[in-house]
Amino acid sequence: MPAAIYPGSFDPLTNGHLSLIQRGLKMFDRLIVALLVNPKKQPLFTIEERVTMIRDAVNDPRIEIDSFQGLLVDYAQKKGVNTMLRGLRAVSDFEYEFQLANMNRKLRPDIETVFMMTGEDYFYVSSNLVREVASLGGNVEGLVPPNVLKKLKAKYSGGKP
Ligand code: ADP
Repeated sequence: MPAAIYPGSFDPLTNGHLSLIQRGLKMFDRLIVALLVNPKKQPLFTIEERVTMIRDAVNDPRIEIDSFQGLLVDYAQKKGVNTMLRGLRAVSDFEYEFQLANMNRKLRPDIETVFMMTGEDYFYVSSNLVREVASLGGNVEGLVPPNVLKKLKAKYSGGKP
């Protein structure tokens, strides 16, 4: 099995993402975790912070962590990789993922998207919700890796560790 690109915002990395990465590595020799730089979105963590958090949480030589701007299909072409890995949590993910996969295939017919179901412990976990709960002082321990938990706590305590 060759390589796959796992694209996303990862703002921040959650245990749901990690579960997908670990299971993706059973299917692919190499995974490129590709952070989408979206100038229209105001992220909680900078790209550099997000890359560092992923690097600290996933220590595997088969993982490349990278970022890209613009169309995923252009990035895929540049990397010479045709397979995209995406996760499905609930039915609500399906419609958007279905549109995205088909749009990518329309833009470049040789692109294939492989979907993996989330681990049953993480089907309700999204970066969005994690950010919201953490910002309100809720405990997201167990939903994100320990290094991300630390960064979230620092972020929401005004930078104090
Ligand atoms: P997006 O900004 O498109 O939501 P994310 O960075 O949140 O991207 O997620 C990237 C990919 O990881 C998406 O395919 C998303 O469905 C998947 N994903 C996110 N959270 C989970 C989870 N808890 N379990 C499985 N897949 C997930």
